[in-house]
Amino acid sequence: MSQYDLVVVGGGPTGATVAEFSARTRGWSVLVVERRNHVAGNCYDESYPGTDLLWHRYGPHYLRFKNTETFDYLGRFTEWLPGNYVVKAQVDGRLVPMPINLETIELIHGEVALTQESARRLLEADLGFHGEAANSEEYILGKAGRRLYDTLYDQYTRKQWGRSARFLDPSVCGRVPIRFDRNPYYTDAPIQVMPRDGYTALFDRMLRSSPLIDVVTDVDWLHEPVHGTRATVFTGPLDDYFQARLGPLPWRSLRFEAEVKEQEWFQPCVQVNYPGAEPYTRKVEIKHVTRQKSARTVVVTEFPSDVGDPYYPVPARESRELHQRYVELADEEGEKRGVVFGGRLGNYRYINTDEAVESALELAARLS
Ligand code: UDP
Repeated sequence: MSQYDLVVVGGGPTGATVAEFSARTRGWSVLVVERRNHVAGNCYDESYPGTDLLWHRYGPHYLRFKNTETFDYLGRFTEWLPGNYVVKAQVDGRLVPMPINLETIELIHGEVALTQESARRLLEADLGFHGEAANSEEYILGKAGRRLYDTLYDQYTRKQWGRSARFLDPSVCGRVPIRFDRNPYYTDAPIQVMPRDGYTALFDRMLRSSPLIDVVTDVDWLHEPVHGTRATVFTGPLDDYFQARLGPLPWRSLRFEAEVKEQEWFQPCVQVNYPGAEPYTRKVEIKHVTRQKSARTVVVTEFPSDVGDPYYPVPARESRELHQRYVELADEEGEKRGVVFGGRLGNYRYINTDEAVESALELAARLS
C-alpha cells in the first residue's frame, strides 16, 4: 500500500484523465507511475531532434470528437487548431482520396462525373459479398466492391496486421468511412481538432493541474507494484500485468523512420497511404496539421511490425477469446486488490484518443 488514495499506472490519455478527475472532484491524492521517460503515452509529441518541428514519436494522432462533452473537458487544458486531416492513397503513381469518395471511385474505376446514384450502381455490380459481414474482407467487398478492395485494402491490411482482412473483425476496416460525396476529410466526426501546443503539453497540463497529483517517470510499476488505498488503475498492456500467464495477447507494433527534408513541403496532405507492395504503409508529414511554418519538414514512414511497443490490439476471433480469459483474471484482481484496468492497452480495445478519454472519465466516476 502507498500513502496515496489512488495509484495510476501509465501517464497517457487514460491515466492523465483518471488522475485529473479524481484529484479535482474527489480531492484524492494520486500517484501516476510511468514506465517511459515522459507522459502522454503514444500521443507523445516533441521537437524532432535538431529542429523546432513537432513530430509524433509513436505515430500520428488525429483528434476527433463525437460529442462536445469530451471536447469541452479537454478544452480546459488546451487551445485548439482546426483539424486538417486529409489522407490520400498512392495507386499506380497517382494520389486518390482516402476514405473512398466519389473521386476515388472515378479514378480507380476510370469513370468521370459520377453522381451518388451512378457510383452506387457501379459498385453494386462489383460487390464481392452480400449479407452480414463476419470479417473485414467481407465488409469491404460488400460495401465497396472487389476492385476497390483489391486496390486499397487487401495489401495495406496484410502489411498493417500481418494477416488478411478475412481474419480481422469487420470493425477494423469499417473504421474508415466509404462515401458517396466529395468530402476529403479522414473522419466523419463533427469535431476535428489538434491541440495547439501539442499532445504532450495537453496531458502534461492535466497532470500538473492539481498539487494532489504526483508523477514519477522511468519507473516500471510492475517491478515495484504499489497500490492506492482506494484504488489502483492499470493502463499498461493487460497481458503484461499477468506476466502473460495465459499466453501473450496479439499486439501489432510499428517501426518509424523519420527524415528531415530541406524543403517546405514533401507531400500534399498530412498522410499518404501506400496500399501496394512497398514494405511500409504510410508516410506522415505532421506539419500539415500542426501548421508550423518552416523551410524544412519532417516525414515519417511507418513499417508495421510484430515486435516492439504494443500499439494496436488485434480485433479478431482468437484474440477475443484469449482477451475474455484475461478479463476474468482482471475481475478477480479487482476484487482482491482493487485494481481496475483502463485504456487501449489495459482494456485491449482499438479505440481512439477521444474514446480513451471518454471511457477514462466513466471509469474515474465509478471509483469510490
Ligand atoms: N485500411 C486500408 N487501407 C487504407 C487505410 C486503411 O486497408 O488506405 C484498413 C487497414 O486495415 C487499417 C484499417 O483500415 O488498419 C483502419 O485504418 P485507420 O486509418 O483507421 O488505422 P490507424 O490510423 O488506426 O492505424
